[in-house]
Amino acid sequence: MPDQLNILIVDDRPENLLTLEVLLDNPELNIVKAESGNEALGCMLEYDFALVLLDVQMPEMDGFETAELMRSTRKTRHIPIIFVTASHTEKHYIFKGYDAGAVDYLFKPLEPSVLNSKVEVFLELQRQKNQLQAKTRELDAKIRELKEAQAQLKERNEQLKLLSSLDGLTHIHNRRRFDEALQSEWKRGMRSRETLCLIMLDVDYFKAYNDHYGHPAGDFCLQRIAKALSSVFKRPMDIVARYGGEEFCAILPGTDIKGGAKVAENLRRVVEQLDMAHVESAEFGRITVSLGISAIVPCVETYSTDLLKAADKALYRAKSLGRNRCEVGQVLKPSLSTPKPQVQ
Ligand code: GH3
Ligand code: MG
Ligand code: MG
Repeated sequence: MPDQLNILIVDDRPENLLTLEVLLDNPELNIVKAESGNEALGCMLEYDFALVLLDVQMPEMDGFETAELMRSTRKTRHIPIIFVTASHTEKHYIFKGYDAGAVDYLFKPLEPSVLNSKVEVFLELQRQKNQLQAKTRELDAKIRELKEAQAQLKERNEQLKLLSSLDGLTHIHNRRRFDEALQSEWKRGMRSRETLCLIMLDVDYFKAYNDHYGHPAGDFCLQRIAKALSSVFKRPMDIVARYGGEEFCAILPGTDIKGGAKVAENLRRVVEQLDMAHVESAEFGRITVSLGISAIVPCVETYSTDLLKAADKALYRAKSLGRNRCEVGQVLKPSLSTPKPQVQ
């Protein structure tokens, strides 16, 4: 029975053990018998006892010696003991050195009702202890579960955060991430006084590409372009994002206009080298891109939107000058009367 409580009865006389066993008869109990102190100590290593009924007068090792030895071992130290003695005069020894709550005594001849009520007190203590241990185990398991759930939640949140900053089609950064990065790099540039460079890129004649090859082919084309563009950036702080439709944008912190123009030319070339046929592009016959570059040391007189406007203007110029080219723009400082844009 799993819920049975183990109880050890120790007496050198088998007939006494038998009497005790009969008196204690209770299906809730697993009664283990020992005929000497030594045998009792051996049993204690094997079982976890809720209570030991210990005869005081025994040859070789008496009940007190057995109890002393029990006290010296961790496993047996806290097992409650009820000494069983024939002598009332030994009473004062019984409590010597023990916690009063864990020790009691009974006198021979045993009175069944006294025996059972005393035993019941200790058994109840053991039941409560077992319940407490079970609750502690339950709580530990719950805590472990909670910790696991917490770790999973953290991982999911990180995945969600990543997903919310990625573009669904091309899997590079999206417009949201781009706006955040531009703001933080603008502030960083203000502190470090380093030039911040921005590149805007637009696919040439892309409407015609869609019309001719179909929308799915257009999507695939954008995916290939995004991958090719990403391969150009080597610095960890550089960010390339899909700005919207067939437009891409890159932020290059700590990069001046000359450096930005080089990167832009590499971007232009890498797309050209994809060599994706575009029969509707009369001049080039393949997919090409136009790029606008702008750069400035961020300061209080200018806004990040001025950097964007300058790159956009340069891109427009690249388009009007024949496409498949890079143009550098100049950031115009707005007059001080211009209201500060919301994005700042
Ligand atoms: P330009 O050389 O002046 O840039 O001309 P364009 O045709 O590329 O520019 P326009 O702005 O007239 O058209 C952009 C087209 O890009 C419109 C739309 O068909 C296409 N486009 C925008 N987003 C997507 C997309 O997610 N998937 C596909 N397949 N096409 C897109
Ligand atoms: Mg466009
Ligand atoms: Mg276009």
